[in-house]
Amino acid sequence: MANANPRGGGRNANAREAPDDDENLVFETSAGVEVISSFDQMGIREELLRGIYAYGFEKPSAIQQRAVMPIISGRDAIAQAQSGTGKTSMIALTVCQMIDTSTREIQALILSPTRELAAQTEKVILAIGDYMNVQAHACIGGKSIGEDIRKLEYGVHVVSGTPGRVYDMIKRRTLRTRAIKLLILDESDEMLSRGFKDQIYDVYRYLPPELQVVLVSATLPHEILEMTNKFMTDPVRILVKRDELTLEGIKQFFVAVEREEWKFDTLCDLYDTLTITQAVIFCNTKRKVDWLTEKMRSNNFTVSSMHGDMPQKERDAIMAEFRSGTTRVLITTDVWARGLDVQQVSLVINYDLPNNRELYIHRIGRSGRFGRKGVAINFVRSDDIRILRDIEQYYSTQIDEMPMNVADLI
Ligand code: ADP
Ligand code: MG
Repeated sequence: MANANPRGGGRNANAREAPDDDENLVFETSAGVEVISSFDQMGIREELLRGIYAYGFEKPSAIQQRAVMPIISGRDAIAQAQSGTGKTSMIALTVCQMIDTSTREIQALILSPTRELAAQTEKVILAIGDYMNVQAHACIGGKSIGEDIRKLEYGVHVVSGTPGRVYDMIKRRTLRTRAIKLLILDESDEMLSRGFKDQIYDVYRYLPPELQVVLVSATLPHEILEMTNKFMTDPVRILVKRDELTLEGIKQFFVAVEREEWKFDTLCDLYDTLTITQAVIFCNTKRKVDWLTEKMRSNNFTVSSMHGDMPQKERDAIMAEFRSGTTRVLITTDVWARGLDVQQVSLVINYDLPNNRELYIHRIGRSGRFGRKGVAINFVRSDDIRILRDIEQYYSTQIDEMPMNVADLI
């Protein structure tokens, strides 16, 4: 498993100062939550500690410093922190710490909203848990059911999946739930929103009553926090006020395109900037992704694209190319808005403004991973200006007109 890690070898060369030394990171935490500033002080098992350091983590990030201990001590937890600050990595870490590898029963279940995110999390678990021989399986739609059955029957400690396939495997009695003691919902506000809630509940009903539940997300709107008492017991809360949610490292701009028709030329003008490192361009519909991809290609620009109507094989191939840096410009939908971690992405373009405030935070958070620099550019038509101003106010942030020298900021 040595090279399961997405950054490839030489991790340490890539190691970065944890973005926690930033005095501006303000949390609202439950009473009694301690801040533990090194992995050594967390009582983590030796083989896992080795895995963490070998993966290139030197020091826990702010959320890891606060939430790891309560989670591994068995408490329910609600953990919020800015995008790219190590929440999903923390899931991988805590899960590895909590399982008993002397049996081959599933003890932890992680649910994520997209197949790519569930697979990414599985890879991180396999990488940091390599020395302790963790068996993890990504149980996700679009993949061979036979392979799922084979893996699950062989026996794994952790399942990282999407709700539909996980539920299917539970119903078939292939995914045995009786030893599951920990349920983690990554991107939990999305998982508990209208689209997913019933599916999550379907799965939840099959889990043992003594379940520990952990919720993780960069965005946790009130209506989500309000419903947590239905399935959580006295959770530790580590929350971020919404005016602290945007990252200093991600500069946000807009281009006033006035009309829809003028977005395309604006994008073409920006193409050289897009390819400085890697860029993700968001459209609001799959059709528009297809249309824009075609149009860029017919104008001789190299772009790749991905959305939820593509066969999983193709989605996987596009992800692999983009992760390796073979492709640099990805046109996509909100299937890419949450959780996906490609460190070289330094530019995000909202070709269309997102449909809600939370998505804005997640989309721009595809850049500026773990303290890196990022730039987000919003294309705004005249009738979008109100939406942009609303986002700006809601997060108490600043979205300026794009400067001529934007390339220098990347
Ligand atoms: P989030 O889920 O908060 O968006 P991730 O867990 O995906 O963040 O982590 C973002 C990036 O930071 C990943 O590339 C991950 O490998 C890296 N990372 C996470 N924790 C640490 C750490 N303690 N030290 C160094 N890098 C880290
Ligand atoms: Mg994440």
